[in-house]
Amino acid sequence: GEPQIELSKCIGCLKCVKACPGSALEIFYSPEELEILAQLAGQQDLAEEDADPEELARRELVAAYRGVWVFVEQTEGEAARVSWELMGKGQELAAKLGVELCAVVMGDKVEHLCREAFSYGADKAYLMDQPVLKHYRTYPYLDALCHLIDKFKPEIVLMGATGMGRDLAGAVATRVKTGLTADCTGLDIDAKRNLMQTRPAFGGNIMATIMCDRFRPQMATVRSHVMPMPAQMTGRTGKVVPVSLPIAEADIFTKVLQVIRDKKAGEVDIAGAEFIVSGGRGMMAKENFAILQELADELGGVVGASRSAVDAGWMPGDRQVGQTGKTVRPKIYIACGISGAIQHLVGMQDSDLIVAINRDKEAPIFEVANYGIVGDLFDVVPALIAALREMKA
Ligand code: FAD
Repeated sequence: GEPQIELSKCIGCLKCVKACPGSALEIFYSPEELEILAQLAGQQDLAEEDADPEELARRELVAAYRGVWVFVEQTEGEAARVSWELMGKGQELAAKLGVELCAVVMGDKVEHLCREAFSYGADKAYLMDQPVLKHYRTYPYLDALCHLIDKFKPEIVLMGATGMGRDLAGAVATRVKTGLTADCTGLDIDAKRNLMQTRPAFGGNIMATIMCDRFRPQMATVRSHVMPMPAQMTGRTGKVVPVSLPIAEADIFTKVLQVIRDKKAGEVDIAGAEFIVSGGRGMMAKENFAILQELADELGGVVGASRSAVDAGWMPGDRQVGQTGKTVRPKIYIACGISGAIQHLVGMQDSDLIVAINRDKEAPIFEVANYGIVGDLFDVVPALIAALREMKA
C-alpha cells in the first residue's frame, strides 16, 4: 500500500531513500531548507578545518609572510627588462593582496636601481650594495637572498626566467624549502591568498595552474616579454631599506675575471623586436627566407622561425619562437608557412596583432590570427612587400 511517513518524526536523514528496494522515495527540500542545509554544511567544514592541526599550522605559516617581491636582475648596473615587466605584474598582485610591492636590488653601486624600481611601481627596495655582489655568482647571491627572505618574510618572490633567474630561483627555493614554478605565463591570486601560477605542461598540450599553499614564499619565474612592460612613472619615490650581510670574498670559489658581452655584431634580438616576420617548414628552403627578410626590412623588423625551420638548419637557434625558443610580444607578428602547433603558439600568441599566411585553411595558426590569408606564401609575401613599397612611395 501507500508508504506512510510520519512527517513530524522525519529528520531528513535519507536512510529510507537508500533502503527503499523500488527506489520509490525521494525527498524534496524547499529553497529555504536548501539554504539552511548549505549554511550547516559550511559551518561543519569550517569546524573540521579549525580542528585540523595541519591546517592550523598552514594558516599560521601563511599569515607570517606578507608582501610581493620582485628580484631586480642587473648586469653591470643595468637592469634586465624582465624585472620591470614583473614589477608591472607585481603591482597587480600586491594590490589584490593589499600588501607592499618590494624590489630586491643586489650588486655594487646599484642604488640607482632602487629609484628605477620605484618608477616602475615598487613601494620599497631592499638594497644589498657590497663589492662581493658586483657580478652574479650563485653562492653570495643565494646567501644574500635567503637572508632577506628569512628576515622580512615575503609571501611571493618573482624573478625573470633568465640564465641568472633560473639558477638563483632554484637554489633559493631549495634552501628555504619552498616551491618554485618556472616559466609561468600567468600569475593571479585566489580566494585564500595563494598565488595561482599558470604555465604550459605536458609538452605544452595543457595549461596547468600550480599552487604552493603549504609553503612560503611562493616563488615563480617568468620569461621576458610574457608580461607587458608597465608605464614608467618618473618622480615616483619609495623607501630604500639597506641591508648588509658579511660575505667574505675568500669563501667564494667562483671568481669573475672578465665580462665578455656575447652579442656579436649583426645578431638580432627577436624578443625585443616590435615587428617579426616568421617562417616555418612551408618556406621549403633556407634561401627562401630572403623574401621574409625583405618584408621584415620594409617593416623595420626581424625574421623569426618555427622549430621546424631551425631544425632544418634554415635559421639559427636564437630566432626560434616558442616553448623551447623565445617568447615574443611584438606589435605585429606575421607567420608564414607555420601550422600553429601549440608549442609555437605559446611563444607568440600575446602579440598585439597576428597575421597568418598559410595555404591550408584548416591550419590552427588561423585560430590565433587577427588576419588570416589563405594562399601560397610565395605569392602573398611578394605582394605584401610590393604593397608596402607602394604605400611608402
Ligand atoms: P609544419 O607543422 O610542418 O607546418 C608547415 C605549414 O606550412 C603547414 O601548415 C602548411 O600548410 C604550410 N605551407 C606549406 N607550404 C606553404 C606555402 N607555399 N604557402 C603557405 N603555406 C604553406 N615548435 C616551435 O615552433 N617552437 C618551439 O619552441 C617548439 N618547441 C617544442 C617543444 C616540444 C617539447 C615539442 C614536442 C615540440 C616543439 N615544437 C616547437 C615543434 C612543434 O610541435 C611543431 O612541430 C612545429 O612548430 C611545426 O613547425 P612548422 O609550423 O614550421 O611546420
